[in-house]
Amino acid sequence: MKIVSVQERTVSLGSATANAAISFDSMTASAVVVEVETQRGRFHGLGFSSIGRYGHGGLLRERFIPRLLAASVTDLHDPDSGAFCMQRIWGVLMKDEKEGGHGERSGAVGVLETAIWDAYAKSEGLPLWALLQREFGHSDECGLPAGQTGVYASGGHYHATGDDASRLADEAKRCLDTGYSWFKLKIGGASETMDRKRIEATVAAAGQSRRIAVDANCAFDAPEKRQALAKLDALSLRWIEEPVNPLNYRGLDEVSSALTTAIATGENCFAAADSSNLLLYGGLRADRDILQMDFVLSYGLTEYLRMINMAEATGWSRRNFIPHAGHQAALHACAGLGLGAHETGSAPGPFGGVSACTRIANGIATVSDRPGTGIENKPELLRYFDGMID
Ligand SMILES: [Mg+2]
Repeated sequence: MKIVSVQERTVSLGSATANAAISFDSMTASAVVVEVETQRGRFHGLGFSSIGRYGHGGLLRERFIPRLLAASVTDLHDPDSGAFCMQRIWGVLMKDEKEGGHGERSGAVGVLETAIWDAYAKSEGLPLWALLQREFGHSDECGLPAGQTGVYASGGHYHATGDDASRLADEAKRCLDTGYSWFKLKIGGASETMDRKRIEATVAAAGQSRRIAVDANCAFDAPEKRQALAKLDALSLRWIEEPVNPLNYRGLDEVSSALTTAIATGENCFAAADSSNLLLYGGLRADRDILQMDFVLSYGLTEYLRMINMAEATGWSRRNFIPHAGHQAALHACAGLGLGAHETGSAPGPFGGVSACTRIANGIATVSDRPGTGIENKPELLRYFDGMID
């Protein structure tokens, strides 16, 4: 494989919604197209940032795209077998980058690396899930065959126009009626009383508390907020997400010891080393807790596989992995590697739903077998690439 060209564009994702920590009014993302040439022809790999960390235009233009374009064919292939090698791509992108201090570069590398996976899968004539299954193996612990994954819907944001519990209940019911297994809403951005009403409305719509998860976006970091967490624990929800700051391992350890409910966290851990610290010091429990590392924000799939290997070596299962955000590439990783489930946004948009040729029923997504990650089959995502593909 040879890298022919790379394009990047920063796009606006602005929406009038918020969680407990940030507003999404000025959110941006990077759209990336990597054109490659192989013996089978030329292919375009599409990459799109994950949500929550803004676009990476400066880093892409100044460091990572020039490195990719400067790489020789030898740099991209295994010296022994001669086969194209994603670990070598990762080495090219990370050349002269020191360990630690991930900042925004992990997202810049992640979006580029994901675009190359898309091109690689297309060049092999495979959906990304089948390429991942072939190269890294599928775990049957999730209870589903390769090509399928559990799927849940997330939404329940706070709206600038005001919130009411009945609208939230409608959103949850619509998602569950569509075939998603459970629904997740935001909490921690309103009074305890209002949040309680929001949760109760969705539990009533779902019919059982296990079909509702809540995302606190670190709202319970302060010790004086922990009493409210104990009240949430009594509701027997599916999980409580990011109760404390992602780097507050002691706080997470305290919370993990105090709660019976599963904890989901990890979307703001951006490297295998950070994830290792999370498991070593966060007090998380392999029998129930959920790891949400988001590989598009975290140096890409190559680094994500290191996280999975590290976790499996310390008693965790791939079932514990449910990636953050609703990325098309994450859908394929879930279906190809046998992860716990896939998240999708409840509203239409780049992170909402799945591509048109993926089917959702009874809490299971049957992922398309078209080559690549399927961005081309998701019009609300593909529109961000207008004019970038011949
Ligand atoms: Mg979250």
